[in-house]
Amino acid sequence: MPLAKVNDILKHATENKYGVAAVNMFTFETIKYAIQAAEEEKVPIIIQYFPGLEGHMANKYVSYIAKDLAEKASVPVGVHLDHSRNFEIAVAGIRDGFPSVMVDGSALPYEENVALTKSVVETAAVFGIDIEAELGHVGSGANIDDIQNSDHYTNVDQAVDFVQRTGCHSLAVAVGNAHGTYIVTPNLDFDRIKALRAKLPIPLVLHGGSDIPDWQMQEAVNQGMSKFNIATEYDRAFFNALKDTDYAGAQRASGRAVMVGIEEAMVSFVKSKIRLLNPNKFSL
Ligand SMILES: [Zn+2]
Repeated sequence: MPLAKVNDILKHATENKYGVAAVNMFTFETIKYAIQAAEEEKVPIIIQYFPGLEGHMANKYVSYIAKDLAEKASVPVGVHLDHSRNFEIAVAGIRDGFPSVMVDGSALPYEENVALTKSVVETAAVFGIDIEAELGHVGSGANIDDIQNSDHYTNVDQAVDFVQRTGCHSLAVAVGNAHGTYIVTPNLDFDRIKALRAKLPIPLVLHGGSDIPDWQMQEAVNQGMSKFNIATEYDRAFFNALKDTDYAGAQRASGRAVMVGIEEAMVSFVKSKIRLLNPNKFSL
């Protein structure tokens, strides 16, 4: 099917009360097997790339491959560039073919975040590109203060002002979530999610979706979060699949056969996340 717009996927998810898995790819296989899982589950998925990895693999290779596989898929597949921390990275992502880009000004003072996000949204509009922004600061799961100190969380009234002034298409929020491996179990602020959902006209995004207890992920879906970023756990699933020496490829000392052999484990991991994020059993 034609390449889906990320924001159309997210609006559909918001209306139909399911969460979309947004998996961070880092090899061809991590795109291919995620799309296969979404096709088997008959729900949309988002493939995203962290631009900090550009030194390893150029943005344009990723966008080209991901968009080509997306167009051949039987379900809507969005292609998105993750955390772009300044104007240049975000616009380079557009130049390199990403139809959806995150600009992350959350480490900046509020007015500077507004100005950066607004300028990226205006430039992106020329090309019809969707823009995700962040307000509140989603920090590191290795830092207890980042996880538990609600001073870092998204302020609801400020979020209303931010969305109005920037025109961003979706918003990543800080509600007790954090990036990477959590050193303590997170405790999402559902009252805040509920208030954000009630007051904002755009889809909400949860970063740091790895290792959050299942019941909290499902409650976040039920309270109206729509995009769930899964990077750390997907990376780990790939590692665990590779080190499983039962694969025939490993026994034959064949790297190529190993990459083919991890298919079942990778597809099954993504399917488990898709099912978790679909408590009301939506299907296309
Ligand atoms: Zn993030």
